[in-house]
Amino acid sequence: MAAGEEVLVVGAGVVGASVAYHLTRLGHERVTVLDSRGPEALPGSTGLAPGFVGQLSATPELAVLAKDGVATYRALSAAAADEPAFWQVGCLEVATTEERLAQAHQDVAHGRGLGIEARVLDAAEAVALAPALVDAERALGALHIPSDGAADPAALTRLLVAAAESAGARFRWRTPVQALEADRGRLVGVRTGTTGELLRADRVVLATGIWGPVLAAGVGVRLPMVDVQHPYVFTAERPELDDTPIDAPIVRYPDHAVYTRRHGRRYGLGSYAHRPLPWEPSATRDSAEVPFQEADFGSALAEARRLVPAFRQASPGRRLNGVFALTPDELPLVGPVAEVPGLWVAEASWVTHAAGVGRQVAAMLLETGRPAVDPARLAPGRFDHWSDRKVHEAALGHYRGIYDAH
Ligand SMILES: Cc1cc2nc3c(=O)[nH]c(=O)nc-3n(C[C@H](O)[C@H](O)[C@H](O)COP(=O)(O)OP(=O)(O)OC[C@H]3O[C@@H](n4cnc5c(N)ncnc54)[C@H](O)[C@@H]3O)c2cc1C
Repeated sequence: MAAGEEVLVVGAGVVGASVAYHLTRLGHERVTVLDSRGPEALPGSTGLAPGFVGQLSATPELAVLAKDGVATYRALSAAAADEPAFWQVGCLEVATTEERLAQAHQDVAHGRGLGIEARVLDAAEAVALAPALVDAERALGALHIPSDGAADPAALTRLLVAAAESAGARFRWRTPVQALEADRGRLVGVRTGTTGELLRADRVVLATGIWGPVLAAGVGVRLPMVDVQHPYVFTAERPELDDTPIDAPIVRYPDHAVYTRRHGRRYGLGSYAHRPLPWEPSATRDSAEVPFQEADFGSALAEARRLVPAFRQASPGRRLNGVFALTPDELPLVGPVAEVPGLWVAEASWVTHAAGVGRQVAAMLLETGRPAVDPARLAPGRFDHWSDRKVHEAALGHYRGIYDAH
């Protein structure tokens, strides 16, 4: 697209912010980002995520996007001494079964093929790296990926917004988009909810996370993604901890679908060991946090608390149920929508992959060289021949298996 053409990005979570960041870095200044939120609050999925950034993936495209995430977040965080947003603390994937330990050895070779260094530690080495998080009784060993890290997704988004803004992007806060506006099949802009004003643009990039399907449906587009609920719980503040954000690797237990990390004075953990719970997005709900489902999450979280040493004696703290989006093949939806010229999407991406997704969108929009991932692999229309039911079942089927994909 030409330098003078206007790009409107709808959504300023980590994905929309990353799209604006990369567009402006490539020299495109006519970028406006609209969000119903204010500049500080992050009511979408980004504001709820504990920020694990893991690169080893069964899907090579996800590994490419995640490696971009690590490199970009490290650089951004290093340049912002007053607001660190990423810590390269590594990740331990603890094996509690012989099968997982054997898998860990295979993962070392797989990682090498993807350019990600990893090695298998014995149980004592793993405990020494994260004594509060590794179960010394059950660990048989662990896969250690030193270059993985932990982000503060809200701080990261603020850094991306600030960098995009200083390079010329405009952010219009408290500006809900009511509808995408098409004329004779081509997208011409968006209509905002506050005033009903039509904001014209040459391209509109939808980056509204779990709300993506709502706006897309208004112009007859089905986005092949399913929103799911996910529990994350904290301990109360621990007397032995100070304000250091994180000082040990993120620890995952793939055999139990549990992951855990330090958050300053508290520890947090999440579990996927429950039946997947879809969530129907609605335009009227403005937060990705939904009521906690004790009946569905209770036993999975009780098992996770028994597994992670830091949780065994600790008083419980905040608990949340956050919604994020899944696709049938675990890859995000990135690129132009074939049936509505002018409409682009950057949807169903994790924090981990948001830097790579923003870079991919910017490179494709501005036609600057070859994008890092084959656009066909991320094309929003790649499931057009699938029924709604098949999309739904395949996407939900990956919920517990997120361990092997991300
Ligand atoms: C509990 C939980 C744990 C997670 N853990 C991890 C993790 O460890 N690692 C990881 O990488 N990912 C994790 N994720 C996933 C990750 O948080 C999301 O995939 C990611 O944040 C999505 O970013 P986004 O920018 O697409 O969406 P969002 O952050 O939801 O942003 C969308 C934005 O669009 C705006 N918006 C929506 N509709 C409109 C409209 N009509 N008009 C204007 N603005 C609108 C919203 O206000 C919002 O600011 C987790 C998610 C949850 C909920």
